Amino acid sequence: MPDKAEIDFKGIVAGFRFDGEFIDAIPYGFGHINDTYAASFRKNDGTQHRYILQRINTNIFKNPEQLMSNIEKVTNHLKQKLISRGSDYRRQTLNLVYTVTGKSFLRTGDNKYWRAYEFIEGARTYQIVENEEHLYNAGNAFGRFQNLLEDFKADSLYEVIPDFHNTRKRFQAFSEAVKADAFGRAVKVKTEIEFANKRAEETGKIVELLQNGKLPVRVTHNDTKFNNVMIDDETGEGICVVDLDTVMPGSALYDFGDAIRSGTNPADEDERDLSKVCMDLRLFEKYTNGYLDATREVLTDTEVELLPLSAKLMTLECGIRFLTDYLSGDVYFKIHREEHNLDRCRTQFKMVEDMENKWDKMHSIVNLYR
Ligand code: ADP
Ligand code: MG
Ligand code: MG
Repeated sequence: MPDKAEIDFKGIVAGFRFDGEFIDAIPYGFGHINDTYAASFRKNDGTQHRYILQRINTNIFKNPEQLMSNIEKVTNHLKQKLISRGSDYRRQTLNLVYTVTGKSFLRTGDNKYWRAYEFIEGARTYQIVENEEHLYNAGNAFGRFQNLLEDFKADSLYEVIPDFHNTRKRFQAFSEAVKADAFGRAVKVKTEIEFANKRAEETGKIVELLQNGKLPVRVTHNDTKFNNVMIDDETGEGICVVDLDTVMPGSALYDFGDAIRSGTNPADEDERDLSKVCMDLRLFEKYTNGYLDATREVLTDTEVELLPLSAKLMTLECGIRFLTDYLSGDVYFKIHREEHNLDRCRTQFKMVEDMENKWDKMHSIVNLYR
């Protein structure tokens, strides 16, 4: 986060249609990608309220205008759908605040991009899963997101990160990194390379079904971590999905699979003691239950049947990416110790193995709640 003093908040907030007189803006939340601030205002009647003000990370997102076009389309659709269902759209979707010129973002003189949302009060995101119900509520929130967007034309969205979950291409990149072996590390990770190679065939499964029309193209969120769900302070429900930077066309399975990958391992993503790493079946059941409660009317049979495979493939893909980066000299993922990417790869592969051992049980759970 940049030094707050350097930022001309007065100038920035003047560019948006905010209600009231600006008081201050303070860094907010634990996001790792964008710079997020809570901006407070005093209305004419003396009451105060807040907005979320975010500076988009243009190091990661090279085309913020396309990204904002995606967010604008998706949030507008969510809003209309929620209104038509008589639901509280001010708390159940992000609501953009437009600029004085009617745009969804403000580009400042220093070529930075800012956007603003109405602040969802009385709810918060959590950095860690604290109980099983959190998983039900996260699954239900991401499920409702999918449900509300069922009739949205997903191909009207820009693919902000092309081939993000093209697992086959990720595997090809991995094979090239093994061949190049630019840092002479392949010899140290023979076991891991073999693990990935054994599963090469499977990496194309979802992508191919999507390409030949056997899986529907839907809106995908692509960052379905627990910390992107607003949990209501009173009811504990997952009321709103945030962090829409990576909404793209794709398969609903990407989101389900990645949520299982990131949400069901009770250990850290870089845990060295692999005996602590697993895919906790109880957490899988909770997420699946919440997710299917919101999506069983909209998903196709093929999608439902492939839910366990999606969890395995998204985890395998992630492990392959860590291994690729290890072989290529740690150029993509930041490392904080030697072999950090290798440790990360190993936790993912351990989870894949664990899922394979629990394969029948995963299917029984899906069949129980479908
Ligand atoms: P990042 O991409 O950096 O993770 P997020 O969009 O997830 O950024 O925002 C960071 C945090 O800000 C979220 O985890 C959430 O706690 C909070 N937040 C985002 N949007 C809102 C909102 N409209 N109302 C309240 N809090 C929000
Ligand atoms: Mg986030
Ligand atoms: Mg994000």
